[in-house]
Amino acid sequence: MKIVLLGPPGAGKGTQADVLVKKLFVPHISTGDMFRAAISSGTPLGVEAKGYMDKGQLVPDEVTVGIIADRIAQPDCREGFLLDGFPRTLAQAEALDKLLAGLGGLDAVINISVPLDKLIVRLTGRRMCRDCGNIYHLLYNAPEKEDVCDSCGGQLYQRADDCEETVKNRLDVYEKQTAPLIEYYTRQGVLKTINGDQQINAVLAELGDALGQHWG
Ligand code: ADP
Ligand code: ADP
Ligand code: ZN
Repeated sequence: MKIVLLGPPGAGKGTQADVLVKKLFVPHISTGDMFRAAISSGTPLGVEAKGYMDKGQLVPDEVTVGIIADRIAQPDCREGFLLDGFPRTLAQAEALDKLLAGLGGLDAVINISVPLDKLIVRLTGRRMCRDCGNIYHLLYNAPEKEDVCDSCGGQLYQRADDCEETVKNRLDVYEKQTAPLIEYYTRQGVLKTINGDQQINAVLAELGDALGQHWG
């Protein structure tokens, strides 16, 4: 299964992807996570990406397509993968189509739809685990103990780009650069839109239906 999760920042892509990949047995490929890992380890990629991420801008297509090309060429992607946060521009979508030419193309692109005003609340209340990357929300998915990860005991932090000002910029960038992909994938006949504005489990159930899975 080669799947793309599409949707604005805060739609719930990462939250759903974490659960989905355990059911589908494919790797979870998040360009945002890859860039954050590169920043933590201080690689040249991290240094370059950080400048864009801090401003809420996209990392240039050549760089982003390059890391995805390397990643999906790995042996663990042979049976498929779940892309989360890639592609985000038309150029990236076209590059992905080229990478997958001869491999049957994408099986599904799931567009997770959430109203704009809710996205701001979701993003500014998001907290992440420093150690395992688990995603929480102060109101909607709160950890049992404040600032402590339920699953690994790691410390929770707020992403620098989840401050209100950068969030607004990211939502603008989404509208201009990423939203056109909805039409692109509709034309290819692979797009399915689901309602992301409901409980996390209800979104997961709708995702399962859209992918033709029966998890009960
Ligand atoms: P969110 O989960 O809020 O949508 P991500 O973790 O996916 O955010 O991405 C964080 C940042 O990493 C983006 O704002 C952008 O700067 C960079 N980034 C992630 N994916 C891409 C991509 N496909 N193309 C360009 N930049 C990207
Ligand atoms: P994305 O990867 O699309 O940026 P995340 O999965 O990181 O989105 O979710 C953004 C924030 O919203 C997180 O704090 C997460 O806990 C919360 N969240 C995710 N799904 C839902 C939902 N269905 N209802 C309420 N909050 C949610
Ligand atoms: Zn953790």
